[in-house]
Amino acid sequence: MSIEQNLSSVIEKISNSVNKSKFNQVVELIAVTKTVESDKINEVIDLGTNNIGENKVQEIQRKYSEINTDVNWHLIGTLQTNKVKYIADKIYMIHSLDRVELAKEIDKQAKKHNRTINCLIQVKLSEEDTKHGTEIEDVMELVKQIAKEYSNIKICGLMGMAPYFEDSENARPYFKKLRSIFDEIKSMNISGVNMQHLSMGMSNDYEIAIEEGATFVRVGTAIFGERDIIK
Ligand SMILES: *Cc1c(COP(=O)(O)O)cnc(C)c1O
Repeated sequence: MSIEQNLSSVIEKISNSVNKSKFNQVVELIAVTKTVESDKINEVIDLGTNNIGENKVQEIQRKYSEINTDVNWHLIGTLQTNKVKYIADKIYMIHSLDRVELAKEIDKQAKKHNRTINCLIQVKLSEEDTKHGTEIEDVMELVKQIAKEYSNIKICGLMGMAPYFEDSENARPYFKKLRSIFDEIKSMNISGVNMQHLSMGMSNDYEIAIEEGATFVRVGTAIFGERDIIK
């Protein structure tokens, strides 16, 4: 299957899932382009994609100048504090904000560029040690603290990952959980916090995530095929 065929199949499935969802939400597709070279990224952009997700700062730095139009760059992977400075002028949204120390640095770098940076709080939904994020019981405090202290960060919602399951139906409780945390924070109307986005769902489970309220799905393999190297 070509990238074009894959992409239209993903878009169709997204639309079917949106119709099934009771949340009445708008869903945006983020094409996850880690390990994918720039010619292919430009191909999906030419096909109409304008959200690009990378999990490494270095890859954004390298590809940024090779991508031919203005697209929204999303950092979806773990972010080291000392690397924020390399993307602070380029990034549209950081999905992996999970600690105060990182917030402090994002805020500082955003100020340097005279901008605000959109951030999602990454929540740890499972005990798999590869999954980063704030512990569920600490999310509320973190949101409050960041909203109070770091004016150049705009908290826009939450991000989370379900464990991988052969049967994606098993991911549903994880997405429900994230949705309930999202609703709880939203209902508090914390000043400076705009709970608008839920980033959840990957190639194997994005349809379930949408049924449970996702507004961003992060899809790589289903568009570009299997990655050669696990990064
Ligand atoms: C790689 C990655 C994805 C996309 O995974 P696929 O299974 O290829 O769709 C989504 N989110 C994060 C955080 C990732 O690192």
